[in-house]
Amino acid sequence: MAGQKMLKFTTVDRDMPEKRVPNLRKQDFNEIYAEYARDKAAEQASRCSQCGVPYCQSHCPLHNNIPDWLRLTAEGRLQEAYEISQATNTFPEICGRICPQDRLCEGNCVIEQSGHGTVTIGSVEKYITDTAFEEGWVKPISPSVERAESVGIIGAGPGGLAAADRLRREGVQVTVYDRYDRGGGLLTYGIPGFKLEKDTVMQRMQQLEDGGVQFVLNCNVGEDLSFDAIRGKHDAVLIATGVYKSRDLPDADADGIVRAIDYLTASNRKSFGDDVEEFDSGELNAVGKRVVVIGGGDTAMDCVRTAIRQGAESVKCLYRRDRANMPGSQREVANAEEEGVEFVWLSAPARFEGDAVTGVTVQKMRLGQPDATGRQAPEVIQGADYLEGADLVIKALGFEPEDLPALWGVEGLEVTRWGTIKAEFTTGQTSLEGVFAAGDIVRGASLVVWAIKDGRDCADAILDYLSSANAVAAE
Ligand SMILES: Cc1cc2nc3c(=O)[nH]c(=O)nc-3n(C[C@H](O)[C@H](O)[C@H](O)COP(=O)(O)OP(=O)(O)OC[C@H]3O[C@@H](n4cnc5c(N)ncnc54)[C@H](O)[C@@H]3O)c2cc1C
Ligand code: SF4
Repeated sequence: MAGQKMLKFTTVDRDMPEKRVPNLRKQDFNEIYAEYARDKAAEQASRCSQCGVPYCQSHCPLHNNIPDWLRLTAEGRLQEAYEISQATNTFPEICGRICPQDRLCEGNCVIEQSGHGTVTIGSVEKYITDTAFEEGWVKPISPSVERAESVGIIGAGPGGLAAADRLRREGVQVTVYDRYDRGGGLLTYGIPGFKLEKDTVMQRMQQLEDGGVQFVLNCNVGEDLSFDAIRGKHDAVLIATGVYKSRDLPDADADGIVRAIDYLTASNRKSFGDDVEEFDSGELNAVGKRVVVIGGGDTAMDCVRTAIRQGAESVKCLYRRDRANMPGSQREVANAEEEGVEFVWLSAPARFEGDAVTGVTVQKMRLGQPDATGRQAPEVIQGADYLEGADLVIKALGFEPEDLPALWGVEGLEVTRWGTIKAEFTTGQTSLEGVFAAGDIVRGASLVVWAIKDGRDCADAILDYLSSANAVAAE
């Protein structure tokens, strides 16, 4: 009886896996949460109330069958739990670690709403797939038939990789092109190890390679290889290049003022043991420095926590709205505060001092009337400026798409007024025949779980496209 094992939320309290204490965790780049022990995972999964209409599932972008894999975990049937979990999610161990669960599945758990504390869905999802890897249940893709058609995927981030996995399972020949020397996109070079250890990403890369996905790395499409050449080589193309143009501030290019993506990429490369000139020279290393990070999103949170781990003298985060109105996850703010980051709410840079930066003149703000979007607009408080000393300023103000049609010299590839690629909502079909697009390059800066969803949907649309092209050719 499922009921005997489940619905324990009235007798079993919510319990996250153990979090390492700040003084220890800030000394390295390892993840901060430990793994559940088997009994603990089963116990926590048994708190699920097995709702007839599970809101957690409907608020997961992948519509993961959460109540079923929680029940199987509670019953100790982990391999079956894994099979169900991986049927809808290409990378459950990654989503379990870095989805903002408080806004998605867990934020909509009815137990939470009844005051008992949400089921720890993300941690159980991570546990199931980590166990599957350890037990050897995760096998390389082995399609039952090989197909002749080939698909070229530009971008080895979660969107491109999710599509590669799904296409390869159907026997399609898949080549993924990426300008970096490693696959994974922002999973590898954006998101720091304390949220997502690099081995976890690399084991997926290995699984895809072992399953026959071809990778062409160090290949900047538009420079090393033209888009047209890729189109000419493959029966269909998927663009999954993400968004990398950093939003900037005026007059913010003195030495010591750096872009978040450069800073995080250098730090992640060091975690792989690479030589990184800009890090070794001190330019992108926070050690011993007074660091000011500008921004209030998840990228800013990752920068402040990276700076702490690099041994900064002090780390301050300037954000022009208040805590309640910041875009970043509250869980990450709490983690950062525990590690010693100081948040300076309602503050924005007015100007930067020094040829090599020595400080930031900070304007104090208050929240005024709501603007057209309904958010209260920040207003400057006149005469309240002050100087904040800084040796390293990190700009973490968000990302925009690069101008792909211009960079790649492609005619007819339509973009929106925000520069994202125009693509059909459910299929990712672009304005060019046989060319699809997925992930951040379509949505704008978003989430890993949405990139996976888009990649999977696009793969299905590409399979339909290949089948209909074959049918036309056979007529
Ligand atoms: C610092 C940071 C922290 C984040 N934290 C989280 C988080 O905690 N949780 C979460 O869900 N999301 C998070 N995100 C967002 C998430 O990483 C993205 O939404 C997701 O990675 C988008 O996937 P994608 O496949 O569309 O693009 P990307 O992951 O950006 O991958 C795109 C790939 O395309 C390649 N590429 C680009 N142009 C070319 C070209 N011309 N030729 C060849 N290759 C090219 C790039 O090298 C890259 O590998 C974070 C983002 C950042 C920046
Ligand atoms: S993929 Fe993300 S939203 Fe969906 S169940 Fe897992 S953690 Fe929750």
